[in-house]
Amino acid sequence: MENLISLVNKLQHACTALGDHGEESTLPTLWDSLPTIAVVGGQSSGKSSVLESVVGKDFLPRGSGTELLQGAPWFCSSTGLMGQDNMRSSCALRIKELSKVNTCAFTALVRKEIADETDRGTGHTKQISTVPIYLSIYSPNVVNLTLIDLPGLTKVDIEGQPDSIVHEIESMVRSFIEKPNCIILAISPANQDLATFDAIKISREVGMKGERTFGVLTKIDLMDKGTDAVDILERRSYRLQYPWIGVVNRSQQDINKNIDMMAARIREREYFASTPEYKHLAHKMGSEHLAKMLSKHLESVIKSRIPGIQSLIAKATAELETELCRLGNPIAADAGGKLYTITEICRMFDAVYKEHLDGARSGGEKI
Ligand code: GDP
Repeated sequence: MENLISLVNKLQHACTALGDHGEESTLPTLWDSLPTIAVVGGQSSGKSSVLESVVGKDFLPRGSGTELLQGAPWFCSSTGLMGQDNMRSSCALRIKELSKVNTCAFTALVRKEIADETDRGTGHTKQISTVPIYLSIYSPNVVNLTLIDLPGLTKVDIEGQPDSIVHEIESMVRSFIEKPNCIILAISPANQDLATFDAIKISREVGMKGERTFGVLTKIDLMDKGTDAVDILERRSYRLQYPWIGVVNRSQQDINKNIDMMAARIREREYFASTPEYKHLAHKMGSEHLAKMLSKHLESVIKSRIPGIQSLIAKATAELETELCRLGNPIAADAGGKLYTITEICRMFDAVYKEHLDGARSGGEKI
């Protein structure tokens, strides 16, 4: 994976130099080629918790209710190479080494940045905005990756929201996840009836046979006594192309008590290893396993895209070379033998001409 990260970073560097900064473009770009990961699910199903445990840091403003619903989708893009001038994010954090960052400071900073940006976008209302908030995290040690935290799918509007909110959210979610490079994490809480889950329905619709969808079963620890999720986890019901992964995230009480990610992961591991129903599946469960599965999947997706990315770079290089040939070779234009290109000469001519016009307008001859 390290070699792959270094290769993708080099390709990214080349594309940035060639002017591909990920802006809207009619041409396919490297940014379009690299995968994004979107979390989809109902309100409070555990989307933010899963996203944070995949990243290994807790940074999203979450908890009891509707904060996410009020906001736009959040993009968390991490890159070591995207130029700051070309950045299209609302918030940006430059982090030298993600693993060495003080978690509390990181959390507070990012949460505040996102919360402020959400308020700016929605004016402290319960409306949702389709304008995404881009949060860029810079690190030289990670591959450029976009994670998308979408508003929770909902069945009814709450006070202060327009009647159309249910459909608006669904079409917003659909617009993000229907892109073929989007890997979908369909989040479904195990303590509710899976048959009613829009996350699976909508991901099946856009991902044809569910080949882009990873099913994540949250809140396994909150299931009614006497019930379990073994049928789903052993692929006897609600079968997807990839096996479902069960996770136990931090509860609201854990969050209030500031239980950190590491402690939560240890407890999650112990939960699966010691619960009789899940013991035999423990090695295939939990946030760490989910992160590993995603890394593996990303690795294979990125590998499959590399030939396309390389030909994109070759094409852009050839176009630039043709353009250079058209402009001609640099020519010596002053006594000191300094070399100027045609474009530089044109620019100089333009400047002198403008100066001349200004001079003529004010009545004096400058040259
Ligand atoms: P979102 O609205 O879908 O992003 O959901 P959140 O990640 O904010 O989670 C909603 C609430 O459920 C929070 O209070 C979480 O602490 C809690 N929660 C999420 N996943 C789990 C889980 O696996 N077990 C327990 N006990 N609580 C969870």
